[in-house]
Amino acid sequence: MIELKNITKVYETGGETVNALRGIDLQFRENDFVSILGPSGCGKTTLLNIIGGLDQYTEGDLVINGTSTREYNDRDWDTYRNHSVGFVFQSYNLIPHQTVLSNVEMALTLSGVKKKERRERAIKALEAVGLGDQLNKRPAQMSGGQMQRVAIARAIVNDPEIILADEPTGALDTETSVQVMEILKDISRDRLVVMVTHNPDLAERYSTRVINMLDGKILGDSRPLTEQEVRDGRDIAREKLALRTRASPS
Ligand code: ADP
Ligand code: MG
Repeated sequence: MIELKNITKVYETGGETVNALRGIDLQFRENDFVSILGPSGCGKTTLLNIIGGLDQYTEGDLVINGTSTREYNDRDWDTYRNHSVGFVFQSYNLIPHQTVLSNVEMALTLSGVKKKERRERAIKALEAVGLGDQLNKRPAQMSGGQMQRVAIARAIVNDPEIILADEPTGALDTETSVQVMEILKDISRDRLVVMVTHNPDLAERYSTRVINMLDGKILGDSRPLTEQEVRDGRDIAREKLALRTRASPS
């Protein structure tokens, strides 16, 4: 379980102070399709980046599977980013001169997986997003929707527990957006997907929980965790932690 406890984020640039997040308390289920809505500048990207370890919070705590990240060092953050989280961006962020297959395989180079298995897993991830017959194309030869599906394949190839998607359909037409939403819905069956979107209709139709933000705060939450779910989540996290500590004493 991921828990945010009174998270704040202050940006200081050129003598100017921006309070991007003003005390966020949130818990996430291990299995959910969460949409985050809110006007431009309200802190959605900041929140997503903090959950994914791409950006550091100013105050508060992010608790990952029962462990406070206040004591995380650079290596802990690297491990978390590389093994537990997959990112999908509005602008796809694919490498243009590489094939689709290489783009997805590349996400596994840091994971210590051997070349043959990297290839097999990349093909499987691309098949899962319906691109099994496009392996040797280059991103420039594809439509926006196809490129975003490659980006999703790249995000899931490592089998992370969390997928974070920042306006993944922001550059797509309605029909293509629907395809991307179907895929995100599908992959949320066995992991947490947190998606930022500008589209309340898509959020309503596809996600299982909708969170509204305004001015760095949570304004509404359609399905917050019950007290029982929070207790169970913490118990499970504790058990997992104990198992891991026993498996690798250090
Ligand atoms: P959203 O994704 O909802 O549009 P952001 O999280 O990107 O909002 O931004 C929230 C606020 O923080 C905005 O006022 C934005 O200008 C500011 N901000 C975001 N990133 C930075 C940064 N790296 N440096 C300074 N201010 C930033
Ligand atoms: Mg944003």
